[in-house]
Amino acid sequence: MINWEKLAKPNIMRIPAYIPGKPSEEVEREYGLTDVLKLASNENVLGPSPKAMAAVTKKVGAVSVYPDADFTLLRQAIGARHGFTPGQVIVGNGSDEIIRLVAESLLGPGDEAVICEPTFGEYIYAVNLVGAEPVVVRSQHGQDLRAILAAVTDRTRVVFICNPNNPTGTYIGKKELEAFLAALPEGVLVLYDAAYREYAEADDYPEGFDYVRRGAPILTTRTFSKIYGLAGLRIGYGIGPPDLISLLYRVKEPFNVNLLGQAAALDALDDGEHVRRSLEMNASGKKQIYRGIEALGLEYLPSQANFVLVDLHRDEKEIYQRLLHLGVIVRPAGFFGLPGRIRVTIGTSEQNQRFLSALATALADASE
Ligand code: PMP
Repeated sequence: MINWEKLAKPNIMRIPAYIPGKPSEEVEREYGLTDVLKLASNENVLGPSPKAMAAVTKKVGAVSVYPDADFTLLRQAIGARHGFTPGQVIVGNGSDEIIRLVAESLLGPGDEAVICEPTFGEYIYAVNLVGAEPVVVRSQHGQDLRAILAAVTDRTRVVFICNPNNPTGTYIGKKELEAFLAALPEGVLVLYDAAYREYAEADDYPEGFDYVRRGAPILTTRTFSKIYGLAGLRIGYGIGPPDLISLLYRVKEPFNVNLLGQAAALDALDDGEHVRRSLEMNASGKKQIYRGIEALGLEYLPSQANFVLVDLHRDEKEIYQRLLHLGVIVRPAGFFGLPGRIRVTIGTSEQNQRFLSALATALADASE
């Protein structure tokens, strides 16, 4: 028998397995349920933009040909939307791929990248993948820029900032980010992950693109997986300095973004109505969840995203299991280093109500 783990590169063995949110179909099969509600992966519960769906239907007959390797139309449209040239835009197979492209382009053995946990797991994955050193600092609720800065050394090439932060929903403000950028030594790239940017309501939320425009060493990433409802098609993008974008193009696979995804994203960008509806639902759903959580005597972190981190003050795994039995899938946050908490995606008012009622039942059953 070959021991493949022994043959693997040592850095690969440092990658913890990713545990995704459970698919609804699996829970339905496992628990003999129908109509399971998944609020575990921060998807858009209103579904994809209708314009994007029409674009996919129109294009489906063309999938025998390779997609445009340069995503010419999509790059132009994304650039124009935010006031950049196409040369400042990279599109990826989800923004996940852009995180990985950055690691592959800038990091190798001996290099360091700073990450502040609890945060999105893809950063540490990408750094480990390329054999670089993840330098992990911790904060109670997300991104502590002082701690990140203090961990920067002359070997640091990249720092990751997730804003709003997943899984906490918290954010860092303009003043704090600007002080950080001013103090950051030269030669360090900031990967500013703004996957949930569209949901942020705070007046002082810093728009990552502003800093790209000012020439800061920052790559701002966004995604079509959240507000645009296209997670299954895998499309994200990054905007940054043209020379950095050229590096990422060198490293990416030629046909990294599929043909249907490109078509869907292009038309989703024009669907302001779907975005507006999604934002409205999120804003009112957030308040509904806050009120419901308070009524249960629990705590939550105020969120700038499409999910809420709820502090149960008890073992989250048991409540997570009980919720599964009741047909509601959330994310137990112990996996993110936040035991005792669950992360729930904000849904429609009906879905939020169903979650809150199930949570009340799960808590009552657990204390019996
Ligand atoms: N960044 C953050 C903070 C996320 O939460 C996610 C998705 N969970 C992503 C990036 C990746 O999104 P995608 O690859 O679907 O664009």
